[in-house]
Amino acid sequence: MNKSYYISEAITLAHQCLEDKLRTPFGCVIVYNDKIVGKGKASTRIKNDPTAHAEIEAIRDASQNLKSTNLSGCTLFTSSEPCSMCLSAIHWSQIKMVYYSCSRKDVFDFGLPDAFELVEKRKNVNKSDFKKFEMVQIKNDKATQVFKDWLLKQKIQ
Ligand SMILES: [Zn+2]
Repeated sequence: MNKSYYISEAITLAHQCLEDKLRTPFGCVIVYNDKIVGKGKASTRIKNDPTAHAEIEAIRDASQNLKSTNLSGCTLFTSSEPCSMCLSAIHWSQIKMVYYSCSRKDVFDFGLPDAFELVEKRKNVNKSDFKKFEMVQIKNDKATQVFKDWLLKQKIQ
């Protein structure tokens, strides 16, 4: 596998984003058996979807093409270090290897927000005055019951 070829493919997608004012310059490709099986460009404002980061778009594309939610045999190449949302998506997709070009600090220095920092600050939400959004647990037995019912159903089937 030619890593520099695939990373440059991801960067090419990031460059293509410059053709549209609504896009930020992020690109991603996913490779399986030495073939690109998923591509993604930053599409949040084009799709009115705040989750449509390049990595998420590429994961969706690869999952559709491979007809699987398990991308454990795949490698992800992205033009910039993935944000915390994309890292979670990479976790759920079971991708084991990620290559990136720009670091989060590079991206932050270009004026784009660093989602890592937001997550880190949230951990100390009660200790600092940083409150981007609030999160409160409302316990309800019916919410846990749905999992008990689901488990029971799994055993019956
Ligand atoms: Zn992201």
